[in-house]
Amino acid sequence: MQHFKFDVLVIGAGGAGLRSALQLSDAGLNVAVISKVFPTRSHTVAAQGGIAAALGNVTEDKWIWHMYDTIKGSDFLGDQDAIEFMCKNAAEAIYELEHYGMPFDRNLDGKIYQRPFGGMTKNFGETSISRTCSVADRTGHAMLHTLYQRNIKNKTQFFIEWSSLDLIKDDNDQVLGVIAYEMATGKLAIFQAKKTIFATGGAGRIFETSTNAYINTGDGLGMVARANLPLEDMEFWQFHPTGIAGAGVLVTEGCRGEGGYLENSDGERFMERYAPNTKDLASRDVVSRAIATEIKNGKGVGKYKNAVYLKLSHLGEDKINEKLPGIREIAIKFANADPVKDPIPVVPTVHYMMGGIPTNLHGQVRKNSIGDLVGNFYAVGECACVSVHGANRLGSNSLLDLIVFGRAAGQNIVETINKQEKFPDIPKNAVEFTQQRVNELNDKSDQSEDLATLGSDLRKVMQEHCGVFRFPELLHAGVKKIHDIRERSNYLKIKDQSNIFNTARIDALELKNLIVVAQATIESACAREESRGAHYRSDYEDRDDENWLKHTLYYADTNTIDYRDVKLKPLTVETFALKKRVY
Ligand SMILES: Cc1cc2nc3c(=O)[nH]c(=O)nc-3n(C[C@H](O)[C@H](O)[C@H](O)COP(=O)(O)OP(=O)(O)OC[C@H]3O[C@@H](n4cnc5c(N)ncnc54)[C@H](O)[C@@H]3O)c2cc1C
Repeated sequence: MQHFKFDVLVIGAGGAGLRSALQLSDAGLNVAVISKVFPTRSHTVAAQGGIAAALGNVTEDKWIWHMYDTIKGSDFLGDQDAIEFMCKNAAEAIYELEHYGMPFDRNLDGKIYQRPFGGMTKNFGETSISRTCSVADRTGHAMLHTLYQRNIKNKTQFFIEWSSLDLIKDDNDQVLGVIAYEMATGKLAIFQAKKTIFATGGAGRIFETSTNAYINTGDGLGMVARANLPLEDMEFWQFHPTGIAGAGVLVTEGCRGEGGYLENSDGERFMERYAPNTKDLASRDVVSRAIATEIKNGKGVGKYKNAVYLKLSHLGEDKINEKLPGIREIAIKFANADPVKDPIPVVPTVHYMMGGIPTNLHGQVRKNSIGDLVGNFYAVGECACVSVHGANRLGSNSLLDLIVFGRAAGQNIVETINKQEKFPDIPKNAVEFTQQRVNELNDKSDQSEDLATLGSDLRKVMQEHCGVFRFPELLHAGVKKIHDIRERSNYLKIKDQSNIFNTARIDALELKNLIVVAQATIESACAREESRGAHYRSDYEDRDDENWLKHTLYYADTNTIDYRDVKLKPLTVETFALKKRVY
């Protein structure tokens, strides 16, 4: 078996992984990045609307206003120290990207263009503000290509179309690397490193309709769960208000940032009723629930009355072509609606995972409720939970999270790594464990479970039992169904047993990760008896700070839950006191 050794191993070549790798290769470390897909096909490439930072290029702005908005957006579940760190470092992070060559849109005076986005306000909630920097509606594309090219310049080593299957950990909870699978050959290899960073992205594919790429299968979370480590705040999933009805493809919030608005079947701008102040630019959980309520009340549009309209035509063709060209193309292709004259039918669609692998400000992975660390192990980006997004992420704060914490994790490693240190021996059973997981998919038995059926059952259950509104009976029944699916997954078999680009094998291994993520989600949602941010319970409609101002830690190995207090104390400024969240 091949056995590679590096100073640092990064799993994932999205924005988070590439930003970390850049910090490390800049410092002269020997870095390898493993990715399931070619780096610039990572889901970051699909990010449309932009990246937030209080640059103040359009009107005056302050990072502390951004901090307040993010805390309020998180429904006070975000850790205030991490949020301060992110918002304070945002401007520098953007200028760094600019200097790397990222082609931001510009104002006439040459400064970086900024657009309004949901929940981003001036003067602690007074009015909406333009804070989101963008490259038309292809911001992630520009960012990912910029970061990839810088890594090529630095000679970062890439292992492309390799899938990491399991963590290698010793008995003292020190991470030694991963076992990965080469898709071209079907062979396993050991990747050993002094420090390992997970940047494996989201897991939106646990739901039936999702804006996420097919590769977003929560592999990092599956690997962490199999290593008996916890997952944090998994009950919090963001539904984006505007996925194209029937297709799920995302229509950026930047549309509403540029002046678009939502209408029901009466032609009413209903957001004025739900969020009198910020209207269509309220935070995403609020807008998604408003749309779902309109549809429930019979005010939906289209043949099945199961969508609402997003109107852009009043912006005019020139502005649409300049600021939202990709959206025009997507709407024509997937909804047969040209936004220059037609409204786009949209519906809330799963978009983002607020929870993930628990980490501190430096990206170091925590293993319990008191914050003890796993040795030499980091997680950044959507797979991580720092937690800056708490119970609801504000649009354009994820790209920022990737680069601020991607850089921070890289920097922490640069400062702490001991390059002279010898590589320890790899525990023998590490390879056996993974080999066994791969082999058992091949066994033929009468009881075998089919890949497509099991996957589709999983996504249906999650969609039906754990959606925008959560009902107690559905949640409890859903927990049982997911347990059954997990049981059935022990008998998951594939017919194709070849070794060269066996996509069925990859899908099966990914499905096992999705099942762990789904179980963590529904168990954590069932346990949290309150409504907060994106988690809305019909039987507990209010936020309950007395009992639930805490992060969930779910342990998949024992199917148990523990909790960790929310960090209310920021690094340097005063705590933002709890208050009711209205927009
Ligand atoms: C359609 C869409 C639009 C969005 N728009 C915005 C926006 O405008 N602004 C914003 O702030 N946020 C936006 N988001 C959210 C944001 O884009 C994502 O949260 C973010 O890009 C995730 O980045 P990442 O680096 O964590 O992971 P990703 O970019 O998802 O990359 C994950 C990487 O991990 C690799 N990987 C995964 N598993 C394995 C494995 N087992 N082995 C090897 N490699 C593996 C993949 O190959 C990939 O390289 C959007 C999201 C979507 C889906």
